[in-house]
Amino acid sequence: MTRSTETPRGAAGSEGAPAAKSLARRSFITLFLLSLAVMVTAVLAATAASYSSYEREAEDYLLAQTRTCAASLEGKSAQDMVETLQALPLTDTRVTLVAADGTVHYDSAVDASTLGDHSQRAEIAQARESGQGVLLRRSQTLGKDTLYAAVSVGDEAVLRLAETRASLASFLGRMGWQLALSLVVIFALSLFASRLLTRMVVRPLQEIDLTRPLQNRAYAELQPLLIRVDEQRRELEDQNDELQRAVTLRREFTGNVSHEMKTPLQVIGGYAELMEQGVVPAQDVPRFAGLIRRESEHMRLLIDDVLALSRLDESTGGDEPVALRQACERVAARLEPASSAKSLRVTLDCQDAVVKGLPSSVEQMVYNLLDNAIEYSPVAGVVSVQVRGEGDGVVLTVSDQGPGIPDELKERVFERFFRVDSSRSRDTGGTGLGLAIVKHAAESMGGTVEVLDAPGGGACLRVWMPAAS
Ligand code: ADP
Repeated sequence: MTRSTETPRGAAGSEGAPAAKSLARRSFITLFLLSLAVMVTAVLAATAASYSSYEREAEDYLLAQTRTCAASLEGKSAQDMVETLQALPLTDTRVTLVAADGTVHYDSAVDASTLGDHSQRAEIAQARESGQGVLLRRSQTLGKDTLYAAVSVGDEAVLRLAETRASLASFLGRMGWQLALSLVVIFALSLFASRLLTRMVVRPLQEIDLTRPLQNRAYAELQPLLIRVDEQRRELEDQNDELQRAVTLRREFTGNVSHEMKTPLQVIGGYAELMEQGVVPAQDVPRFAGLIRRESEHMRLLIDDVLALSRLDESTGGDEPVALRQACERVAARLEPASSAKSLRVTLDCQDAVVKGLPSSVEQMVYNLLDNAIEYSPVAGVVSVQVRGEGDGVVLTVSDQGPGIPDELKERVFERFFRVDSSRSRDTGGTGLGLAIVKHAAESMGGTVEVLDAPGGGACLRVWMPAAS
């Protein structure tokens, strides 16, 4: 079996993302080339400077030498001059004496009679004109340059001294091993400095701890990025917490629903079993059947409320205009049998107001509030429903003359399955979900709900909702 270890061209480290460039590699290469270029340029510049100063010094020295020689020839006859020059202890220097007409009187290197007219030589012409002249003739082949210095001796002659010296190429050649050594040192230094700098730049980046972005002291330029990462991390944490809370609530809710359903089912099962076994006297059968019907009715209400809550959980609140006065009137009419069974007087004092929401949720909210008020009202009491516009909102209040809700439980009554007096609430057929549905519905419209005390001592439930514009 052959296994390919090659990475396809353009393949990314992680799927879909383009291959990342290495900052360390790029900075290292850039720094290395840059420092190499700078150092090599510096060495070349230093070499060029020292060569040009060597050239200047050689010129000055030869000119000074020529001047001294010329001074010793002043006032002498041509013959004396030649003799003086012949006696000079100069070994590496070529001495030439040129007469005013250009003929060569004397040359230390070559027989003077073989040399032609020298008056046109640049250094000689220059000496004639300004007293002295210097010329460097570069040789391309020999690796040697010739330096000429000419000084006029009175009006009659020009003395010229010539010296061969190393050309630039041979100058560099002589410095060969020093140059090679310095290039090796430069290379090593560049390599070392670039690695050090790259490490210094990259290390703070590698050490960034993304679990605590704001604790990092990397670079000021990275601060906005780290702040953003920190924000996102917090958002993620909050979302996670919220998710956890939702999961816990849902688990609790499912447990509560099962528990709430078990009780009526046990009651129904128990009564049915007694009737099945024939232990219930015939005259008691209608009572038992009534008990069974009541429990099944309770289960139906429970299922309705659970479904209403899960619908609210899933929906986004809706944005249809809902006329609140008409909704209150419809609910009061639906609950009329219950209120008249307790001889209650339900008063409606509603302004025309429109809220934005899901019509079925709004009506369910009013229904639950009025149903509770009727439920907890004493016989022949008064239940009042009020709708008022208040600023940019609408306030719905439902008050009764019942026992009210103790201050310390005014928040808790909105919890799912919370009941102030659970045995009494179950007797009244309550599911413990009515006010949870009210709160959920109000909040899904952007509203709030709270429990107040009614003037007569009963409960007053107040819902604030934003008015539809
Ligand atoms: P339930 O179906 O048991 O009425 P709710 O969620 O509607 O459940 O109400 C929660 C609890 O708040 C009730 O069990 C009851 O104790 C209390 N409560 C609600 N409305 C009133 C009211 N108008 N007067 C007195 N107590 C109330």
